[in-house]
Amino acid sequence: MNCEICGAFEETLFKTDIEGAVMNLCKNCSKYGKVIGSSVQVNNKVQRKAESESELKYDYLNEIKNALKEKGLSIEEVAERIKCSPKDMKKIVNGEILPDKNITTKLEKLLNISLYEVELVSDSASKRDTDNLSFGDVVYIKKSKK
Ligand SMILES: [Zn+2]
Repeated sequence: MNCEICGAFEETLFKTDIEGAVMNLCKNCSKYGKVIGSSVQVNNKVQRKAESESELKYDYLNEIKNALKEKGLSIEEVAERIKCSPKDMKKIVNGEILPDKNITTKLEKLLNISLYEVELVSDSASKRDTDNLSFGDVVYIKKSKK
């Protein structure tokens, strides 16, 4: 786990109360607040799920391609329907670029498919800042893609 202040990697972090906010800190940084316990592993599964909420499925390209075949839609037709340039749509289907959330959502609706790993996320969990992935979280997400 990484210290939430300086980012140092430690096996064990100290749960520290800093002006009412509880953070997991290394020994050094725990001096800034009141240590209320130690924490070895983060095992908040709800939070983990929320962080992978916007992860595209591993085989999202196949999902798209299969759906296109099934519905008999051409890339150009789909592009027009979801207001995306045919050029970009081609790149997306070829896996050259990742579709942004807006396009993905429209594709899901149009093709009646789901492209994300996790569909249901509770509101409170999804509000967490997903930019602050620690080392452990990144490893977890990579593992979960298998
Ligand atoms: Zn620290």
